[in-house]
Amino acid sequence: MSTLPSKEHIEKAVGQIQFDTDAFIDGKFVKAVSGKTFATENPATGRELAQVAECDAADVEIAVAAAKRAFEAGVWSDLPPSERKEIMLKFCDLMEEHEMELGLLDCLEAGKPVADCLQIDAPETIACIRWHAEAADKLYDHISPTGSENLGLITREPVGVVGAVIPWNFPAQMAAWKIGPILATGNSLILKPAEQTSLSALLMARLASEAGVPDGVFNVVTGFGETTGKALGLHMDVDMVAFTGSTEVGRYFLQYAAESNLKRIILECGGKSPQIVLADADLDNAAENAVSAAFWNMGENCSCGSRLIVEKGVKDALLEKITAELKAWPTGDPLDPGNPLGSMIEKGHMEKVLSYIETGKSEGANLLLGGNRILTETGGYFVEPTIFDGVTNQMKIAQEEIFGPVLSVIEVENEQEAIAVANDTPYGLAASVYTASLDSAHRIARKLRAGNVSVNCFAEGDMGTPFGGYKQSGFSGRDKSIFAHEQYTEMKTTWISLGK
Ligand code: NAD
Repeated sequence: MSTLPSKEHIEKAVGQIQFDTDAFIDGKFVKAVSGKTFATENPATGRELAQVAECDAADVEIAVAAAKRAFEAGVWSDLPPSERKEIMLKFCDLMEEHEMELGLLDCLEAGKPVADCLQIDAPETIACIRWHAEAADKLYDHISPTGSENLGLITREPVGVVGAVIPWNFPAQMAAWKIGPILATGNSLILKPAEQTSLSALLMARLASEAGVPDGVFNVVTGFGETTGKALGLHMDVDMVAFTGSTEVGRYFLQYAAESNLKRIILECGGKSPQIVLADADLDNAAENAVSAAFWNMGENCSCGSRLIVEKGVKDALLEKITAELKAWPTGDPLDPGNPLGSMIEKGHMEKVLSYIETGKSEGANLLLGGNRILTETGGYFVEPTIFDGVTNQMKIAQEEIFGPVLSVIEVENEQEAIAVANDTPYGLAASVYTASLDSAHRIARKLRAGNVSVNCFAEGDMGTPFGGYKQSGFSGRDKSIFAHEQYTEMKTTWISLGK
């Protein structure tokens, strides 16, 4: 959306949304077998938005059976890729018609700033699925190098029934990173959104069906992790689970696979991303990007640049610029397009973030800015941007993923120490480097144990670049780009004797 609508226009549009709240299984909306529902809340007001179907193992059973039936019937898996592409592109056209609604649902359920939802989340969700759809009919298989008496075909086939279990921080976008390559390669999908943010996934399922995605190919089971997510992880007829979420829960999926059918698992997990600023860096540019890296999406971002590692001599100047830059980042009502920062996802998470802030103080870090819950009169869960100076990399606030607006500043002597500190956490998702020296930039980028390194900016690349983590930030796969396609396929060898 190139120009943002006014707050009045946005509020009117919110009033007109009719929420889809039932699970979407085998081409239709259905209540949970148990008849149970749970409340989804607007975290910026603390008020209930809707009651959503509370699925459990019984509903997962029905969804898996439908997905398997569709897969075996070949209604999607056997289609020529060009036909899958056309249907997926129609799905994207329909999402474009509902782009405002798609963005607003994430704003309402996740407390995300409406400007981001309408200008980043919704358009990038659509662009992602379109990118993978367009790639569907442009991938070739292989013929092995044989003698004239044999023909060796190496082909790719869809894996089968794929579960996608996703988090709440970018609800539609995280869904799209899975939906795009899973559907483009011919699989049947069972999407489990986070319990805090079910609504955009349900809208996407409805639109996919309207576009012609056959019944059973795109299912959404809403509900909690310990019931619905676990049932998917343990199901014998689920061939693969693609998970995005915390490292802690990611581990469970490896256990579920081991305890059930050795289903393929890919994990996109947490991070504690470093931002290295060398003394020769353009400090205005570094400050601008550091603020965005640390506080964009309220720090509820897996690649959040939560550790600022600054070379001696420029720290004070950099912090002065960062505090000045932060004045342009007010926190407030997410439905107001003038607010770049909204609320935390829920009360429990806000409390966790506040407790990390208390830990930082008790560990002896110097609280430079923020540190409090704000806007309590709204009923929402807002935390102000917070900066700790004088942090050492052994402190808990430097090691653990806080997933909130908390930046830890660590001073280092030189480039070597910066690299050592940057790599010294269990995570390895993203990292940034700021320097005027091309040599230093390349040298550091090579040494950083992270899946995504950005130089003189905070960025995750574009749709053409893979995204995922080293170490405990990920396992066995990548989202985005053409590299995301292969992981949703099996590799088959067909060996043909051509006679003598
Ligand atoms: P989470 O791990 O709590 O939940 C993620 C999903 O797993 C949800 O759908 C949840 O219902 C489900 N789940 C929870 N417990 C489960 C269980 N026992 N069994 C099966 N499923 C279960 O994560 P979250 O709080 O929703 O999201 C925040 C996390 O996601 C952060 O750690 C963040 O870094 C990570 N994340 C990573 C990426 C990436 O690409 N690497 C992107 C976005 C978010």
